[in-house]
Amino acid sequence: MPEDRKPPAVLATARMVMLTCKDEHAQDTHTSAQHALQSAKEPIMDESSNTWQEAFALAEADVIDLAAAKIRRGDHIVRGTAADGQLRAFAITAKNSVEELRRRHSSSPVVTAGLGRLMMAGMMMGAMNKGEDELITLTMQGDGPAGRYTVTANNHGQAKGYANHPHVWLPLNGKGKLDVGGSIGQGTLSVVHDFPGADPYSSEVPLVTGEVGDDLAYYFALSDQIPTSLGVGVLVDTDTSVRQAGGFIVQAMPGWEPAVRDHLEANLKDVTSVTDLLEAGMSPTDILAHVLDGLDYQELDVMPAEFHCGCTRERAARAVTALGRSELDDMIEKEEPADVFCHFCGAHYQFQPEELQKMLG
Ligand SMILES: [Zn+2]
Repeated sequence: MPEDRKPPAVLATARMVMLTCKDEHAQDTHTSAQHALQSAKEPIMDESSNTWQEAFALAEADVIDLAAAKIRRGDHIVRGTAADGQLRAFAITAKNSVEELRRRHSSSPVVTAGLGRLMMAGMMMGAMNKGEDELITLTMQGDGPAGRYTVTANNHGQAKGYANHPHVWLPLNGKGKLDVGGSIGQGTLSVVHDFPGADPYSSEVPLVTGEVGDDLAYYFALSDQIPTSLGVGVLVDTDTSVRQAGGFIVQAMPGWEPAVRDHLEANLKDVTSVTDLLEAGMSPTDILAHVLDGLDYQELDVMPAEFHCGCTRERAARAVTALGRSELDDMIEKEEPADVFCHFCGAHYQFQPEELQKMLG
């Protein structure tokens, strides 16, 4: 029997193996399914190859659904479109990632909120990028007590970030909210896109309020000429841990109709706080369905989101080597270890004088 005419009854076996494998080792899916098909002894039923392929496609769709369901249980980003492609939209829930950010930096509530908002915006903006290994870095630099918020995100939903002064405490602002704008003060927002093997490009805009959402919406309007609505929020609990964190971005494509704009604006009037929506139990999918109510929202995909720092001992060693021979000689002579701290995740790498000696070769 030709390879493409295996009977559909065998698919039940193949499918079960695939589901298990997909859950635990995504990369093994194909091999295991093939193996299951090949190990079937007798055809139970013969069908045209078309039918078999259709059945197989259905089995694959189930695997994808299962993987997507698993992603939706944790921090994740959804991407969709509405109004016949006139709008594109992203939404995120990232309580665990923002809590990890807080834990790594022991950040105060106002910094957890500011840096967390920027990191989630970075994760969604990273998800807009198509190029493999493309990185986006967002920096808010101001004259406020937190100094600077820096976030770097890739296009796989992974991001890291730090504040110059993570322990700043400020009184609540006039609205009774964490004073993120006050923590950053007057200053600038810069956005840098890094592509492997190409020159990075960057743009900078003045901060509007320092509350992150307004500043990024202004950046998109000014720098990219894209009308954008962006909401990001972090709800910090009384014990300073992160209770809720999430956000959304809705962008208009060129030539969008005034009727779509009016409808969206009316919907957005009802959205006062993203964290309220999260507190009400809404997922990113629910948030976009709510924000884009009546605009025929269609979801395209879902990806996991996480706090992730790519620093390693090897990279830290390269940083030590870059100090130069005379600096290393000096440390070896004084029998001092070299310490490397990663700003982004707080990791500490220490190299003893013997290791420094080896680095010098
Ligand atoms: Zn790190």
